[in-house]
Amino acid sequence: MAKRDYYDILGVAKGADADEIKKAYRKMAIKYHPDKNQGDKEAEEKFKEAAEAYEVLSSPEKRQRYDQFGHSANASSPNGGGYGGQGMNMDDIFSQFGDIFGGGSPFEGFFGGGRQGGGAGRRVARGSNLRIKVRLTLEEIANGAEKKIKVNKQIVCKTCDGSGAKDKASFQTCKTCGGSGAVRRVTNTILGQMQTTSTCPTCNGEGSTILSKCTVCHGDGVVRGEELITINVPAGVSEGMQLSMSGKGNAAPRGGVPGDLIILIEEIPHETLKRDGNNIIYDLHVNFVDATLGTTVEVPTIDGKAKIKIDPGTQGGKILRLKAKGVPEVNSYHRGDQLVHINIWTPKALSREERELLEKLQDSPNFKPNPGKNEKSFFDRMKEYFE
Ligand SMILES: [Zn+2]
Ligand SMILES: [Zn+2]
Repeated sequence: MAKRDYYDILGVAKGADADEIKKAYRKMAIKYHPDKNQGDKEAEEKFKEAAEAYEVLSSPEKRQRYDQFGHSANASSPNGGGYGGQGMNMDDIFSQFGDIFGGGSPFEGFFGGGRQGGGAGRRVARGSNLRIKVRLTLEEIANGAEKKIKVNKQIVCKTCDGSGAKDKASFQTCKTCGGSGAVRRVTNTILGQMQTTSTCPTCNGEGSTILSKCTVCHGDGVVRGEELITINVPAGVSEGMQLSMSGKGNAAPRGGVPGDLIILIEEIPHETLKRDGNNIIYDLHVNFVDATLGTTVEVPTIDGKAKIKIDPGTQGGKILRLKAKGVPEVNSYHRGDQLVHINIWTPKALSREERELLEKLQDSPNFKPNPGKNEKSFFDRMKEYFE
């Protein structure tokens, strides 16, 4: 199923500023909030969809890539879906965007009940983002590639299942805050009683304390390890482009939200084919006899060899176009061409016989350069190429 446009989901114009996007998201989130639409699957989907759109459009970096490349730019989840794979789960949404409802907004009370992650709730730790480079051949770029890469990173400790505690008994709800991660303080002012909420100092907002720590991770809940990650690179990416896989970065201490994996694309130069945007350039050298008499030659393309015909009387500098033999555009069916530049090869060394043969032809009337009006100039060819 095709993904809906993020701007359409939030009902904002393409040029909307950060404030408009935030307001639009808040409106959608309130309308479809699960507390208000209990058991309504469609509302839940809408709620998730809006959060996904907001996640991308609220980040200038992600938004710019989305504007440029559409859904697949931020994608490449193992499921091949759009940003965030099969969508974000509810906990992610509340831990990441809870603050949109906090900070004295009229909706504070509305979102207060039992949910975690908002301004003054239990603090959810977040793992750091991880950056890796992926080197791709021109063929991989043209066809898209599935890369399996071993990533060295923080992974969840298997011994304690990420809790950081030695066993269940050594895991205790924080006595200071009762597990909420926040403490309330009531102060009397001229305006009446004021209630402030701050992070619990005993448990650092985590809501629990560990009496005896896991001996493998020493209470962190994470250890250094390797994970084999499958990256689906869409066709048409280019040097310097970044893809991100949400949740595939470093694991967070004690059951928090993992960071993202940022994949930086590097191109491995091809031996004979050069990339120019979505086109492929190939320099073909034919000797002047073949150019004069005409011939058929094989040229390499990213799909294998292709035969091309050199017409009799072909001039140097001519560009032959192999339609749709170039690189596809990201997120589009359009594919570039391969442009074959004809260079006339002039022999550099001659045998005595060859020399004698050519000397006979040297003053022959047909060998005198005589570019007619129909001959394309260098300027024409350049224009044609850039069109
Ligand atoms: Zn506490
Ligand atoms: Zn552990």
